[in-house]
Amino acid sequence: MTQHQSSPQHQSSPQHPHLHRADPEIAALVAAEQRLQADTLRLIPSENYVSAAVLEATGTVLQNKYSEGYPGKRYYEGQQYIDQVEALAVDRAKALFGVDHANVQPYSGSPANLAVYLAFLQPGDTVLGMALPMGGHLTHGWGVSATGSWFRGVQYGVRATGSAEERGRTDLDQVRELALKERPKVIFCGGTAVPRTIDFAGFAEIAREVDAVLVADIAHIAGLVAGGAHPSPVGHADVISTTTHKTLRGPRGAMLMSTEQHARAIDRAVFPGLQGGPHNHTTAAIAVALKEAAGPEFRTYARQVVDNARTLGEQLAARGFELVSGGTDNHLLLIDLTSKDVPGKVAAKALDRAGIVVNYNTVPYDTRKPFDPSGIRIGTPALTSRGIPQSELAAVAEWIDRTVSAARDGDEDTVATVRAEVKELMDAHPAPGLTLD
Ligand SMILES: *Cc1c(COP(=O)(O)O)cnc(C)c1O
Repeated sequence: MTQHQSSPQHQSSPQHPHLHRADPEIAALVAAEQRLQADTLRLIPSENYVSAAVLEATGTVLQNKYSEGYPGKRYYEGQQYIDQVEALAVDRAKALFGVDHANVQPYSGSPANLAVYLAFLQPGDTVLGMALPMGGHLTHGWGVSATGSWFRGVQYGVRATGSAEERGRTDLDQVRELALKERPKVIFCGGTAVPRTIDFAGFAEIAREVDAVLVADIAHIAGLVAGGAHPSPVGHADVISTTTHKTLRGPRGAMLMSTEQHARAIDRAVFPGLQGGPHNHTTAAIAVALKEAAGPEFRTYARQVVDNARTLGEQLAARGFELVSGGTDNHLLLIDLTSKDVPGKVAAKALDRAGIVVNYNTVPYDTRKPFDPSGIRIGTPALTSRGIPQSELAAVAEWIDRTVSAARDGDEDTVATVRAEVKELMDAHPAPGLTLD
């Protein structure tokens, strides 16, 4: 089985022997993806490496089972064990985040948010969320999403002017102004490209003033909240929406958490409002991830993610990179490459060739188009999961700098050199969950 391993088409997949026999094409692609995840520096802030235990849970026979309903109230028989799995996941979510109620069934973050609309809004009602190009998420009422076409989306942004402290940060004055004028029934806070701490108390005050339901979408930062490295929305937000697969380091899935007051509305919206049977194998893996996140090592992880992002930001700033909002409080950096004279997409593609995986991203008030924007977005959750030491982040910043310059100058030799250096560091710090031979 070893002699063909260098060529991806024939790569064997010893850890998936049945898959390899039944479908060698897919097995080879899975093996190649695993190799890619091992060899590259993954800096996409929404991505991570799950533990081997989480990965195993997602591949269990729990996936064979239908269980519409909730523990103790199912529409199918044979739930002796599934009920216990879901109850464990729910209890662990409640304990970890300190919430009254948790629903672990949403298939992913977007369906979880759609369930929020179903619970609290009628079609045409107004929702206030952060604009997508300012760092918000599609599901916060942005036009091309169902949430922006079936509902009336009103969007806030970040400050364009002011002191270095203010620029690029959420403009709560604008949020209040819009809330008073537009009277949204639901206000979303949180986003996908927000490098700063979210002021949950500030949002809650505004939501109370206009009698809106405040939803904290902590999809990106759930792991930081769980690990005590970002303030918690509990006590401020009526509903908390989160994915489980970003900083929380669980399987692809989502959770909705709330006060007791909204528990029934949330549960009914998820099932039967929006979904059918829950994905029980995912529920099991969420339970495992929540158990991991409750341990002392995860607190260390969460803090290290933030320390690493801050250090990487400082190292990049020292090399002339312009960070939106001037830096970061969390796991991500939004970089405006205008001053480097390289469009975001050109930089992202060169970085990918250099083995550094990022995504191109709009920056606030971007003068370029969303499909060809001015920035890139990077984050530290995955590199921290690999245990890459903070002392290596100067080298990481240097690679990014050299590659971005190489992208501008068309210097593919430098890109190849960086790729080899990246691989060496990755080899020294194997990623969790990958079983390479
Ligand atoms: C990732 C994300 C989502 C959506 O999650 P999917 O699982 O991709 O549907 C929703 N909201 C925010 C803020 C996110 O970052």
